[in-house]
Amino acid sequence: MSEILPTETQSARDSAFRAIDPSLGEAIEPAFPIADAATVADTCRRADAAFDLFRELDPDARASLLEAIATEIEALGDPLILRAMSESGLPRARLEGERARTTGQLRLFARLLRQGRWAGVTIDSAQPDRVPLPRADLRQRRIALGPVAVFGASNFPLAFSVAGGDTASALAAGCPVVVKGHPAHPGTSALVARAIHAALDAQGLPQGVFALLQGPGTDLGAALAADPHIKAVGFTGSRAGGLALLEIAQHRPEPIPVFAEMSSVNPVLLFPGALAARAAALGAAYVGSLTLGAGQFCTNPGLVLGIDGADLEQFTTAAAEALAGTPSQTMLSGGIHAAYERGVTALSSHDAVEQLAQGVASEGCNRGRAALLRTDAASFLADPVLSHEVFGAASLIVRCRDMAELRMVIERIEGQLTITLQIDDSDLSDAAALMPLLERKAGRILANGWPTGVEVSPAMVHGGPFPATSDSRTTSVGTAAIERFLRPVCYQDLPDALLPKPVKHDNPLALPRLVDGEPG
Ligand code: NAP
Repeated sequence: MSEILPTETQSARDSAFRAIDPSLGEAIEPAFPIADAATVADTCRRADAAFDLFRELDPDARASLLEAIATEIEALGDPLILRAMSESGLPRARLEGERARTTGQLRLFARLLRQGRWAGVTIDSAQPDRVPLPRADLRQRRIALGPVAVFGASNFPLAFSVAGGDTASALAAGCPVVVKGHPAHPGTSALVARAIHAALDAQGLPQGVFALLQGPGTDLGAALAADPHIKAVGFTGSRAGGLALLEIAQHRPEPIPVFAEMSSVNPVLLFPGALAARAAALGAAYVGSLTLGAGQFCTNPGLVLGIDGADLEQFTTAAAEALAGTPSQTMLSGGIHAAYERGVTALSSHDAVEQLAQGVASEGCNRGRAALLRTDAASFLADPVLSHEVFGAASLIVRCRDMAELRMVIERIEGQLTITLQIDDSDLSDAAALMPLLERKAGRILANGWPTGVEVSPAMVHGGPFPATSDSRTTSVGTAAIERFLRPVCYQDLPDALLPKPVKHDNPLALPRLVDGEPG
């Protein structure tokens, strides 16, 4: 595996680390050099040096780069999947699906670039004869923010890591990217980085457009977020990690935005009509969503609210039976497994919480057993700890006296990535009454489905109020993610010779424009 060692951006050879196979608890070769402070500074300088050229590339050229990266990732073939399997404990089918999602989203951003609306070209023509004052010629377009630091996520070693959604959207916007790879999967990261460097070479673009920095511990990420050349941060991970980066970014001499996706329990609301019609089926389907991928999804349904009674009891019994039969699964890392165990123990030993079922125990390293727990709304409202995310396949059912109490629980919970409604026609008026509140709480509201499984598409929102994210105005999945890395610039009365191509009078890039308020 020495062929996966990235060397061009890392110089600190005397310190190194290895991945740990979470299913065995054993180190995997090779060792990866740990980037030191000088390497971080040099890498960010090179990203900044590449910025002006990269951001002014014609959209078609940046689209071609994204497509070339997708092709190069595919060309890595099975060694990429095998390495990701050994570093994450995730099964082949999941990782093959994730690879397809990764290349699919790169190609989706390429299409977006060619459509051109992302550039936001808006022209207000001069009105020299306007009274009482003439109007200047005003031309707006959006430009890239600058080099972006991306923190690879542990739970998506491909689709939210080195060439994942944050990187694809930042490159699409015209921002060079410096990735801090997640230390759980350095070999996977190095392989994908190699594919990106090959694509840059093939397109004749400077290597400064992309870099991967590796190493465990918070110093590296802190130095990256603090570097003066970095102009924004994309992050997926823990609430503590996201908040630490936010703190660093806000206290720099030049504060920068941090787009951190952090913590969500994704409430599922069981309405009375739906429960009366299909309680047992809902219970089984809920466990399917909860235990998918050992529960290691940010959209995992960690909280269920229902009105107390026989139908909720039937749902609970069906869920407990289904969950008791689920095998334990290898979790992503020793740290994540330990955090999961601590979280389940804290919940199950809480005075007001009853443990209803656990998944099947098995021998082996870092195996997470699913857990189903239950409390009542009054206890839930009395202790905020019960609403905190336990990352993994653990979920808490909250019994509510009536819709009024269920509403009180929703009013109390923090911001969420998703809220799911299980409804029938008879529930529509209850659900309609809750909608304004649900919109205030979540980035995505879904009916009669399950929150896991996030479509990568223009209409998707994977975001939400704090602590789901640090900035509720955006999404980290889907093409709207490009908005995070763009800012508007207005050109007033500039001669055509000084105007950048997107706003030149003859529209040489044929970008869609809004001219005097009309598409033109
Ligand atoms: P994490 O601990 O937040 O780490 C994510 C990345 O951020 C790593 O590269 C980490 O570096 C870096 N980092 C963390 N704290 C930092 C700090 N103070 N300063 C600078 N860099 C920092 O997340 P994780 O390793 O993926 O998993 C740990 C826990 O995060 C899980 O148990 C779970 O609770 C949560 N999580 C949530 C989601 C979600 O989608 N909601 C997804 C994944 C994880 P080092 O690891 O090298 O220190």
